[in-house]
Amino acid sequence: MEHMFHKTRLFTPGPTPLLPAAQFAMAAADLHHRTPEFRALYQRVLEQLRTFVGSTNDVVLLTSSGTGAMEASIANLTSPGDRVLVLTAGKFGERWTGLAKAFGCQPDVVSAPYGQTLPLEAAQAALRSDTRLVLMQATETSTGVRHNVQAVAEMLRAAGSDALLVVDAITGLGTTHLDMDAWGIDVLIGGSQKAVMIPPGLAYLAVSERAWKRMETTKNPRYYFDLRKERKVAAKGESAYTPGVALIAALGAAFDYIAAQADGDLAKGRVALVENAETCAAMMRAAVPALGMRLFAPEAPAAAVTAVMPPEGVDSGIIVKQLKARFGTIVANGQGEMKGQLFRVAHLGFFDPLDTLAVIGALEQVTVDALPPSKFQLGDALAAAQRVFAERSRALDKAASNDSSKISVGAVPAGVGR
Ligand SMILES: *Cc1c(COP(=O)(O)O)cnc(C)c1O
Repeated sequence: MEHMFHKTRLFTPGPTPLLPAAQFAMAAADLHHRTPEFRALYQRVLEQLRTFVGSTNDVVLLTSSGTGAMEASIANLTSPGDRVLVLTAGKFGERWTGLAKAFGCQPDVVSAPYGQTLPLEAAQAALRSDTRLVLMQATETSTGVRHNVQAVAEMLRAAGSDALLVVDAITGLGTTHLDMDAWGIDVLIGGSQKAVMIPPGLAYLAVSERAWKRMETTKNPRYYFDLRKERKVAAKGESAYTPGVALIAALGAAFDYIAAQADGDLAKGRVALVENAETCAAMMRAAVPALGMRLFAPEAPAAAVTAVMPPEGVDSGIIVKQLKARFGTIVANGQGEMKGQLFRVAHLGFFDPLDTLAVIGALEQVTVDALPPSKFQLGDALAAAQRVFAERSRALDKAASNDSSKISVGAVPAGVGR
């Protein structure tokens, strides 16, 4: 072991690194949930959440992992026998099929191979007059792919479909621009352990009026995840059951931090958060070929996470293990049958470009002995990432100075020598 001293760093796409201010807020949140103090906190956080999601629709906050909000969407919006269209290209897309079946729905499934994005024409062809829901991901965390939500929404509108569009944006929120109201998304789902920098345990959904209306007639069972009940009590600053009080305090602190990146404007702070993830992801993508590796999803890469295929003949598990053993750096292996074929490096939430340089530097050390010196030298991948950072910084600065009302990207403090 060459290092006697390790600093643990998470580069996993959920849970992600925790924001210190959110951890302090959690520690201080010694409140009862049926008090005016909690009601004030809850109402404030729900309002921030609506701004963060970027919609005028009502949002519902659930104390559960992200899958709870996915289940809530199916339980509240379907009746047994309903046909639903699942657009899937990975493990999280497959979760929609499993959930739909668990609630007695008939899923029609349109899939793309892992690493690719959804085939729109096939989706259109599979849409039926009785399709009740269309289910998809904004970003497929298992493969590092970004799907085109806007195109699916437009396709549904052009087809005059009554189907509600339900989008799992659990790693999409805070990493990709999503305009729920303008595009006509009916349910947009997020989760706490992803871009909002707090621990797992909260899930949230923004719900369109069309979707609220649908719930009046649907028949599937729901109790804990009864969205209409939550909406009703949320109007009074309450939740139906004991909420994750400490996590809600943490979420408020995280939104304050995101807003502070853009002079207190949370909507602009979200844009900065997305651009920051885009910068880190672009740096990572530039480093990958310089490491003698390949991108698993080169066509439609997500900013949330980059999936990387190791050099030919190397099990990705070895890289995952070595990064942990030598540098305390935790990246995610492939999920399911992708285990061993790829590893995933996250960019969503509390990461900045210096974190990305750190993980690239660790990857260089881990792979240097596996590749011939003619193919790879220490510093090649870092240099590629540095060039991308410099280019993007210049472009973002230029955009900001052309429009002084635009965001200044928090992760790139002005005046840093470049
Ligand atoms: C993390 C994640 C989920 C939710 O997983 P939980 O473990 O239930 O929080 C769902 N969809 C996507 C795309 C995710 O990345």
